[in-house]
Amino acid sequence: MQIYNVIIIGSGPAGYTAAIYTARANLDPLVLCGYQPGGQLTLTSEVENFPGFPDGIVGPSLIEKMQKQAEKFGAALVYKDSTGVDFSHKPFKVMAEEEEYYGRSVVIATGSSVKMLDVPGEKQYMGRGVSTCATCDAAFFKNKRVAVVGGGDSALEESLFISRFACVVYLIHRRDKLRGSKIMQERVLKNEKIQCIWNSVVVRINGDRIVNGIEIKNMIDNSISVKELEGVFVAIGHQPNTGVIKQYISVDDHGYIIADASGKTNIPGIFAAGDVKDHKYRQAITAAGSGCIAALEVEQYLSNVADAG
Ligand code: NAP
Repeated sequence: MQIYNVIIIGSGPAGYTAAIYTARANLDPLVLCGYQPGGQLTLTSEVENFPGFPDGIVGPSLIEKMQKQAEKFGAALVYKDSTGVDFSHKPFKVMAEEEEYYGRSVVIATGSSVKMLDVPGEKQYMGRGVSTCATCDAAFFKNKRVAVVGGGDSALEESLFISRFACVVYLIHRRDKLRGSKIMQERVLKNEKIQCIWNSVVVRINGDRIVNGIEIKNMIDNSISVKELEGVFVAIGHQPNTGVIKQYISVDDHGYIIADASGKTNIPGIFAAGDVKDHKYRQAITAAGSGCIAALEVEQYLSNVADAG
């Protein structure tokens, strides 16, 4: 039975960075990339804030470069989803469909998935007016009209950020009370560019090649109205991808892995990196940074285990 030094689950910036570092350390990592490798970067268009790319780079190209860099140093990549784990004893077992893989250590870098509205037009105009990341895309909406959907801290933070670029931000919330923190609420309600549309949900995103409007349903009287605009930011929350590991790894109330700054989880030898443990920063660069930290911790862990015999 082959036992890998480290199995990395996930192929976003956190997973590939962990792969680059552990491969360069001659640990011959195995990366379970999933069927749709690349994580959330593959959903973004131009990335302008990743250091080293002064002219910007499109998300899928950035992730492809990371993948090539990991492969260059000898990381083994498997394009299957992890379908189950057994962390109850060592070596740790990770299942990917009919295959079973064994590792002395594991880095969980499964990321998080944005919750989507699931309305007509949303998928069609993703990247062409529909976005899930203000930090990535707000600058494309200079002097444009934009809607942000949601009432939590993410939606409030995105609205405030986008208001620096857009001429008007419609904050569309399904209730008449925001969920986000008081201080963020105050900032949003004070911001002259942000108009709250209460008790309302988006039922359709319209466009002609790119977004040109939305249909909104008022939840009180069921009336439908149309708003002409150029951008829709969906900010109704994220779901950490912890489905297969929750049974063994401690997660918080929102499902995010509880890990310290070094990525250590409740099980020695199992580390977490990237958005699966970070509901706050969620940037490609912070995910990459935490992938690097987890990799260095893996090295340390494996050498300590070896020293202990
Ligand atoms: P969240 O707190 O779960 O809020 C999601 C919002 O979207 C809620 O207002 C919810 O409405 C609405 N929503 C959910 N599903 C919807 C749907 N299908 N259609 C329309 N609206 C829908 O998520 P989040 O804002 O991403 O925050 C997650 C966690 O991260 C929170 O603990 C938050 O405090 C934290 N966070 C912190 C910061 C910060 O500190 N700067 C920034 C971002 C996030 P209801 O209110 O009616 O449920």
